[in-house]
Amino acid sequence: MHILVINCGSSSIKADIFNFLTKTSVHQLSVERIGKGTLGKINGVELVCHTTEEYSEILKAYLTEFVRLWDGPKISGIGHRVVHGGDDYSQPILIDAEVKSAISKMIPLVPLHNPVNLKGIEICEELFPDIHQVAVFDTAFHRSIPKRAQYYAIDRKLSDEKHIKRFGFHGISHQYVAEQAAEYLKRDLRELRMITCHLGSGCSITAIEYGRSIETSMGMSALEGLVMGTRAGDLDPGIINYLLSEGYTKEDISSLLNERSGLLGVSGQTNDMREIIKGAMDGDDGCRLALQLFTHRLRKYIGAYTAAMGGVDVIVFTAGIGENSPVVRHRSLQRFDYLGAIFNEDLNRDVKISLEQPVVEISTLNSRVKLLVVRTDEQKSIALETEKILSEKFKVNTIPVIPIAISARHVHLRQDTVEQLFGKGHQLTFRSPLSQPGQFSCEETVTIVGPRNRIEKVRVLGPARTYNQVEIARTDEFFLGVDAPIRDSGHIEGTPGITLVGTEGTVTLSEGLICAWRHIHMHPTDALLFGVQDKDIVEVDVEHNDRPITFKNVLVRVSDKFKLEMHIDTDEGNAAEITNGTKGVLLLTGSTCKLRKKNV
Ligand code: ADP
Repeated sequence: MHILVINCGSSSIKADIFNFLTKTSVHQLSVERIGKGTLGKINGVELVCHTTEEYSEILKAYLTEFVRLWDGPKISGIGHRVVHGGDDYSQPILIDAEVKSAISKMIPLVPLHNPVNLKGIEICEELFPDIHQVAVFDTAFHRSIPKRAQYYAIDRKLSDEKHIKRFGFHGISHQYVAEQAAEYLKRDLRELRMITCHLGSGCSITAIEYGRSIETSMGMSALEGLVMGTRAGDLDPGIINYLLSEGYTKEDISSLLNERSGLLGVSGQTNDMREIIKGAMDGDDGCRLALQLFTHRLRKYIGAYTAAMGGVDVIVFTAGIGENSPVVRHRSLQRFDYLGAIFNEDLNRDVKISLEQPVVEISTLNSRVKLLVVRTDEQKSIALETEKILSEKFKVNTIPVIPIAISARHVHLRQDTVEQLFGKGHQLTFRSPLSQPGQFSCEETVTIVGPRNRIEKVRVLGPARTYNQVEIARTDEFFLGVDAPIRDSGHIEGTPGITLVGTEGTVTLSEGLICAWRHIHMHPTDALLFGVQDKDIVEVDVEHNDRPITFKNVLVRVSDKFKLEMHIDTDEGNAAEITNGTKGVLLLTGSTCKLRKKNV
């Protein structure tokens, strides 16, 4: 299954096509600086495909081109990041008119985000009318926050009428990294008290008590809480009244709090944490204060959230700053010994987060609290959530299965061998087709003669090949008294020979006796779907009855002449009571073939 994920920001668009099976993005679009010299890239290659700087036109033009350049399997669903879902949505949901109206109702609270999220949805409806769309909300994960943490201590009626409540944001990321952390620790999220720190351009921190968000630092809007790149975070509301009385307009204040505060405002120079740290090290007073404010606020929240949960078991750092800055992690975690949270300075300094290593532990062995750095991946999380909704709603089978066929012992022959065994000028006689296109079983059979025994009526398969090959199972080897190596079809050099008897003659082959390497025939479109390449080694899980089995060391063979089917021999099939047509599931996928556990 392939899912298109769309993340429309106010001045940027991200889209990915996710191969659900390999859980990787296989086609990427990024558009930045929309309206101010738009920069669009598809798979890293710069591309201009718009004529105006108008958002909808740019979005439509890039999405059209993005999908035109996709030559993989059909897209099965579209997942949209939607920033504000209001009170109603605590889960991702299939988009219909009612959902769109709810998204639109929240526009006054997030004027920069929900309108562009809606545009993304509407343009997809136009471009892909047959594909289901799912909204994944940034606020949904925080709907579990209890009232005591949701309400501001202002007039209750006003709060309800005007939706002046703490909704929280970055929910997709907080939930994703919490799940990743629990998986890494091999613990159930429902038995952990966790604090997740999402530190990117926007920053927020969440207390996740036994799997549920119970407190988060962003509130009704994305302005509250931690110090951010250009946003102030917490401040005394009296400041706003004071600025108004000093002649500042509403727009001035909005621009001050959204665009000119935070790291940028305090340092007076930059919103980039890398530059702030460098400046602080070089003795710049503004940068030093910005770094202190940033980490002090974070420490304060970690302490407060620990108190709110009556303790903490795991603290997670994520996003641009959280994943990449040892300095910020060091400053915000020091002197937490009293909480049982002790970090290892060397581990903290050496963290290198990547797709291959998405979780790194930085706590000491004796630290009761686990300290983790976790790679966030909002696009992937949206793809997973979208797939979940589609498979629940439409029973879409998102895990393609592989039909298994049992290969009984058989022989492939060269034309001259056919003639030696069945008479001059003899042509193999078609008996019935085999599953692989062009292959057939023949009326002809041979007898295989080994030192110990002989096996009669062994089927010849057609058409004739350029080499002789005799494929038998291990049990046949014991019976015949021979030792056949496990080989990929066609690789017969150095294999033993064997004697074959036909109706008109006997041939002793000098080589060609093999025990076939269990393998999967795939068409290139199947290979794309499974995320594998010719000659990859994979694992296949078969859980068809009470003798479930995992086949390891399965060879992938890709050709446009093949049809999807796994071939095992009779011994392998009998051992697991597999019959023709039993289905298997690929476990080990990707060009590097990483292990991925999955139930059928
Ligand atoms: P966004 O919210 O835009 O997705 P990111 O998660 O990409 O943001 O985070 C962007 C922030 O990460 C920037 O402020 C940048 O300074 C910071 N960052 C990236 N790499 C490092 C690093 N090595 N050290 C400190 N900060 C970093």
